[in-house]
Amino acid sequence: MVEDRKQRRQLERETRDRLRRLSTQGIDPDGGIAHLVTLKKALLGLLDGGAPSRASDAAKFATQAYSQSVQRHTPQGQGELACRAGCSYCCHTFVSATAPEIFNLLRVLRAQHDDATLLARLRAADALTRDLAGDARLTAHHPCAVLKDNRCEAYDARPNTCRAFASLSLAACERSWAGQRSDIPVPTVNVQLRGSFDLAMRAALRSRGLDDRSIELNHGLLVALETPDSEARWLAGEDIFAGVAADPVEREQSDEKRAAFERVISAIENG
Ligand code: SF4
Ligand code: SF4
Repeated sequence: MVEDRKQRRQLERETRDRLRRLSTQGIDPDGGIAHLVTLKKALLGLLDGGAPSRASDAAKFATQAYSQSVQRHTPQGQGELACRAGCSYCCHTFVSATAPEIFNLLRVLRAQHDDATLLARLRAADALTRDLAGDARLTAHHPCAVLKDNRCEAYDARPNTCRAFASLSLAACERSWAGQRSDIPVPTVNVQLRGSFDLAMRAALRSRGLDDRSIELNHGLLVALETPDSEARWLAGEDIFAGVAADPVEREQSDEKRAAFERVISAIENG
């Protein structure tokens, strides 16, 4: 009994240390599996806590640690980002997020709006985007449900997909918006770290038997709001997001890529 208590305290101390270290220093994009295992353990520390909001809390930590990692590891001479407040071409496309990120985003939106107002807004956004995929979604230019007056209303809680998508060229984003072929120059460090955080979060979720898919944001937010006790039910293993479209990049992955991805996730899970 005394041993159990000692062990629990030791685990709590280790989790606190990891969270503190990762929140201030982030992770190194070239740190390899060891860094991803550390990140996964930090996430597990949050997911295993007793808080009813532990999925949202894990996402809040992961999104903030992601931004911290980008800030610390952006190489000198990378060039200036073109992104500015009020520029929102990138908020009019398919955006996906994990369930914990959706709960975290919804928590912030619910603190700003009453549920009836929010429900009407999410239903309106989802009605426009639910069945649009691929190029049709790109060219329709329908906004993300969280966008208001061309600004993200829950910027500090935006998912890592949004944090990762930054551009070194406004002209490239404008060309893409106009329907022209355009390779948007996204900083390499953003992409690398996006992959790292995604892998660690998914390994943590799988370790606890939770759904690790990345799903369409407008519909996901609507389901999370419409489902009573959504976060608790999801944490209990209920597949509340079963009808929400998964990220097409994941769905269309080649067998070879999927197998490589699965190998890395297993290595992190078992690390
Ligand atoms: S990624 Fe492009 S569209 Fe989005 S904020 Fe940056 S410059 Fe604007
Ligand atoms: S969550 Fe915010 S940053 Fe992300 S697409 Fe929506 S409005 Fe844009």
